[in-house]
Amino acid sequence: MELETPRTFRDRPINIDDSGHRNWIYAKQPKGEWYTRRTIVAWIALSFLVLAPFVKINGNPMMLFDVANRKFSIFGQLIWAQDTYLLSLIMAVAVVFIVLFTVIYGRVWCGWACPQTIFLEMVYRRIEYLFEGNYRTRKKRDESDSDIFFRKLAKHAVFILISILITNVFLNWIIGPERLWAIISEPIHDHLFGFIAMITLSIFYYWIYAFFREQVCTMICPYGRLQGVLLDSKSIAVTYDYKRGNPRGPKSTGDCIDCHQCVSVCPTGIDIKNGSQLECINCTACIDECNIVMKRINKPKNLIRFDSVYGIETGKRSVLNARTYAYSVVLAILLIILAVTIFNRKPIETTMLRVQGSIFQKVDSVTFSNLYMLKIINKTQSDKSLQLRLIMPKSGKIQLITGQSLLKSQGTLESVIIVNLNAKDLTGKSTLIEVGIFEGDRILERYVTNFLGPVN
Ligand code: SF4
Ligand code: SF4
Repeated sequence: MELETPRTFRDRPINIDDSGHRNWIYAKQPKGEWYTRRTIVAWIALSFLVLAPFVKINGNPMMLFDVANRKFSIFGQLIWAQDTYLLSLIMAVAVVFIVLFTVIYGRVWCGWACPQTIFLEMVYRRIEYLFEGNYRTRKKRDESDSDIFFRKLAKHAVFILISILITNVFLNWIIGPERLWAIISEPIHDHLFGFIAMITLSIFYYWIYAFFREQVCTMICPYGRLQGVLLDSKSIAVTYDYKRGNPRGPKSTGDCIDCHQCVSVCPTGIDIKNGSQLECINCTACIDECNIVMKRINKPKNLIRFDSVYGIETGKRSVLNARTYAYSVVLAILLIILAVTIFNRKPIETTMLRVQGSIFQKVDSVTFSNLYMLKIINKTQSDKSLQLRLIMPKSGKIQLITGQSLLKSQGTLESVIIVNLNAKDLTGKSTLIEVGIFEGDRILERYVTNFLGPVN
């Protein structure tokens, strides 16, 4: 005999029906104090996303992630591919920061700062409300109605325009405004690859925000899945106070009248009364909606609120536990290391390798020479006039054979150099030498390498 298991919210994603088809979510437009706060945060985040590549700090863009040229600018600090240790450190700090925040505040990043949510909920969804009305109006409209057809057409036209704008915002972060303007303003055949990338990305964003929507958060984003590992009973998240709300129903003793309003406003379609779920992006829309209901029925607000399971059960709020302290210490140490590393970063990056296949040459009876390939990258925004001096041994000589000693801002100097040493300074077949790269009297970098000589 086949046992029939009752269907619950855990059996399948809420936006997929029994036959496997998409259940389209028409979320009600939220209103309330949390929505106002979220709108303010979204405007700040959107302004940062749009303006950061245009703002210059020390002549560098505030934000640039030029992956193709392996050049990054973070708050005006230029970071090159050679600074991989710095990039790794920044990523480690970011990961610990996100983990720490998740442990304490749950998925607050998702609802408040993630570009996917900001664009979907604060841009596209608002345009949808504008053209199709709020969810009740939209539900009443018949799909075959010509009015809704033209409203949808207009909505999708605006969606396409916004998707093109978002593509431009994204490309500004990747290639910078100057190169983006060249793609836009110069003939297409001069920037064919860039043009194809723009079209492809625009189509991709349109598809994501017009059709795929909340499934990015509920099915694809790995961060949402980490919740199960990172959250504990003391993590703060949007939580339904089941102690106060249950038993539910219009005539029951609990405060929840089972009006379903918190579900109708949810952008991922879930019922927060079922407890913490990975689909919840902590957007707080259900808090606002339930507060409106509570006000109407003369009950205290915050039946749904930011709280922990521990807080609901005991009535005490606590965000501090052993794990929080441990993560905070790790984060503080990483931030100090990051600040010190950035502060002490060298303005140039030097490599000096012996010319392939060469060993040493005898210049005269007491002098030997080695040939090296020198490469110096200027990581700053100013031109540098460089001099090379031998620091160890002092009596040796160093000479630039090809190339110039003037290094342009963000430029690379490549040259062959010759080092002459007196036989008395040689310590064996291989002698350690130290080269100083100077700008005036200021030493920018010290480079240690080997000098080959004859066997004594
Ligand atoms: S909005 Fe509030 S009262 Fe209505 S079902 Fe949700 S939790 Fe219960
Ligand atoms: S349950 Fe509430 S906080 Fe979570 S996604 Fe839905 S509306 Fe937002």
